[in-house]
This record gives sequence, C-alpha cells and structure tokens, in this order.
Amino acid sequence: MSDSETDGDTFDIIVIGAGIAGAGIAWNLAADARVAIVEREDQPGYHTTGRSAAVYLKGYGTEVIRDLTVLSEAFLAGPPADFSEVPLIHPRGALTLVRPDQMDRLDRYLARQRRHLPHVERLDPKAILAMVPALDPAYAAAAVYDGDARDLDVDAIFQGFLRGFRQRGGKLLTSAEVRTVDHGNGLWHVGTARGSLHAPVVVNAAGAWADELAALAGLGPLGMVPKRRTALIVRPPDGLDVSGWPCVDDIDEQFYFRPEAGKLLCSPADTTPSEPCDAQPEELDIAIAIDRIERALPLGIRRVERSWAGLRTFVADGSPVVGFDPRAEGFFWLAGQGGYGIQTSPALSQLAARLATRLELNGKELEIAAALGPDRFLG
Ligand SMILES: Cc1cc2nc3c(=O)[nH]c(=O)nc-3n(C[C@H](O)[C@H](O)[C@H](O)COP(=O)(O)OP(=O)(O)OC[C@H]3O[C@@H](n4cnc5c(N)ncnc54)[C@H](O)[C@@H]3O)c2cc1C
Repeated sequence: MSDSETDGDTFDIIVIGAGIAGAGIAWNLAADARVAIVEREDQPGYHTTGRSAAVYLKGYGTEVIRDLTVLSEAFLAGPPADFSEVPLIHPRGALTLVRPDQMDRLDRYLARQRRHLPHVERLDPKAILAMVPALDPAYAAAAVYDGDARDLDVDAIFQGFLRGFRQRGGKLLTSAEVRTVDHGNGLWHVGTARGSLHAPVVVNAAGAWADELAALAGLGPLGMVPKRRTALIVRPPDGLDVSGWPCVDDIDEQFYFRPEAGKLLCSPADTTPSEPCDAQPEELDIAIAIDRIERALPLGIRRVERSWAGLRTFVADGSPVVGFDPRAEGFFWLAGQGGYGIQTSPALSQLAARLATRLELNGKELEIAAALGPDRFLG
C-alpha cells in the first residue's frame, strides 16, 4: 500500500499493533472483513512478540489463562492447512525444582497444578538428576514434572497469522505510528505517520503502549503495567548435551532455563515495572541470572552469547483485557497478555475476533469473555 493509497482508506476494522495479538485477531477477522493493521516499527513483531521464551505451559497464569492455553492446543498441534510448513509446537517437558527450604510450598503447588493437569508428577531426587544430571543435588529435594509442556515455534505461529492475513486480503502498514485516534460520523479516524485510515471499529493491540493508545482516543487508562523480563543464551561446556533436558524453573520463579538449539536460554524471571519502551537488558539482571542459575546448575558459565529483554504487560488481576470499551463505541481492547500471549494466541485471537464482530458466543466462550472485559476496571 503506498502512502497516497492509504490516505482516506476506509476499512471494517483497523488493528493497531503488529505483534502476536494484532496479527492473530487480524487473521481471524480478515476471513470476513476488510482489515488493516498499522504498526509503528518497520518490521512486525519487533517488540515483545519477537522476544519471548517460547514455552507452552498449561499450568501457568490465572485460571482464565489456563483455559485459553488448553483451548489453544488443538490449533497449535494441528493448524489449518497452509498455515505453516513446520510444526508449531515440539515436545519438551517442564521441571519445577524444590529445594529443602522450599518444601513447605510443594503440596499447595502440586494441588493447584493437578486441578488442571492430572498428569503432573512429583519426582524424587533420583528421577530429577536422571533428567538433568548437571543439577546441584541441593536444588533437587523434589520437583513437579509436567511432561506435557512444549516448545513453541513463535516465528512460525506469528508468520502463519501474518501470511494468512495478507492472503485473505488484509493490509499491513508498517512504519505507521498512530498519532491521533478521533471519532466522528460513526467512524474512528486513525492518523498515522503514513496517512489516515477510517473504520467503525478500532482494535487496541498496542502491547505495552495500550494505555497510551487509549489516551489518544480520549480514554483513561486501565492500569497496564509493562514489566521487563531478561533472557540470555549461554553455551554449555563442551561435551555436555543439553538438548533432551526439560525446561527447568524453581518453585519461587526465581529463574528458568531451557535448551535452545544446543545451548541454554536462561532468565532471572525478572518482573521490573517499566515505561513502554524498546526494552534492553540491564547488566545487573544478566549477572543475577548467571548467579541464580550457576547455583542450581554449576556449569562455570563464562560468556553470554546473546541477551535481550522484553516487556510483559499486565493489568492488576493478571488476565488479559479483551472486549469493547463501554466508554467509546467501537473501541476494542486486546491487551495485557502478560507472559502468556503466544501460548494463548490461537484461542484468544479467535475469541477476540468473535467479540469484535459481535458474533454469538458459546457457553465456555461466554464464561471466558466475562472474565476479560475492560468493564472490570471501570467501576
Ligand atoms: C522474555 C520474555 C519471555 C516470554 N515468554 C513467553 C512464553 O514462553 N510463552 C508465551 O506465551 N509468552 C511469553 N512471553 C509473552 C509474550 O511474548 C507476549 O504476551 C506477547 O508477545 C504480547 O504480544 P502483543 O502483540 O500484545 O505485544 P507486542 O508484540 O509488543 O506488539 C505490540 C505492537 O504494537 C505496536 N504499537 C504500539 N503503539 C503503537 C502506535 N502508537 N502505533 C502503531 N503501533 C504501535 C508496537 O510497535 C508493537 O509492535 C514472553 C515475553 C518476554 C518478554
């Protein structure tokens, strides 16, 4: 789409933000509607979506996140024909470690996990060390093992959404920062760095900037808090094959690591509140990650091959915000996916598209939608 073509273009729906949230809902919507995505950066997926740890965990997050994660499984395991040439998920397994001084948390944690995941097992030290022989035994008093945890191919999922969106006739406009969002004559008028677009419905999929985007439309914030999380890649010692290890974290979520192409992806599981920005890793967080992981896994990590940080954006109750804003006709929220936006993307984007087009929902969808509406923050 050239600059001149965009000026004055009218769509059924404008989606603001080309991360997994925007791409997912736009793919769903474009089957039956004229849809445009506008993105500030020159490439889609540049912010949080391109920076995830790529894990699928059914026992992670709030109850509604867990429901959405389970509901996403069928799509991830068997996406529609032509969606992707490669599998979207791969077997991995996840091990949550418990030290002797953390044993008082174990029963409660196990009970909560088993409510959704009857298959999770409690492992003894011998079984833990058989899975990850390089662990310090002091970190392996017990563990909870979820054999159903998977690795996600984030790029394949994201590109599948975007490619399908384009094939369905959708327009993606990059380098198009949204600067104004005004309403008049039954339409939203979205002024971007590359011209104006118009539609009766606008979707706020702006990630860490979702509250700022709402402010452009004259709407007060819903309390989005972006939280920085750091990740790094380290090379294991020569001769140590980590490729079959599970994803490993600790019961207090102080760190995690998992195999990544023969190396280890590590994180201090930091949750530092941040302004919306192009997040960068801090030296201190990298040092904390190495310290915590070296204690559990004494490998003699000397060199970090690569590090990055991204913003996981939460509202107060930890569940996403999805639905029309009762304060402004046609203004739809799809934000606050926290640390679960990839693993929930198939089910969440489908539900969001049905809500945004006011389709009738079935029983489970109704229950989930009721838990996600923006009205829960509007007194
Ligand atoms: C280190 C880390 C590990 C993670 N691990 C996992 C994991 O294992 N599993 C999982 O499911 N999730 C994980 N997540 C979370 C997941 O990555 C996010 O939930 C998801 O990517 C959020 O997607 P989004 O589309 O909402 O945000 P983003 O990808 O940030 O997209 C928002 C887009 O909106 C654009 N935008 C903002 N304002 C404007 C404007 N004014 N005009 C135009 N465009 C605008 C931005 O440029 C951006 O591209 C992790 C995140 C991090 C940081």
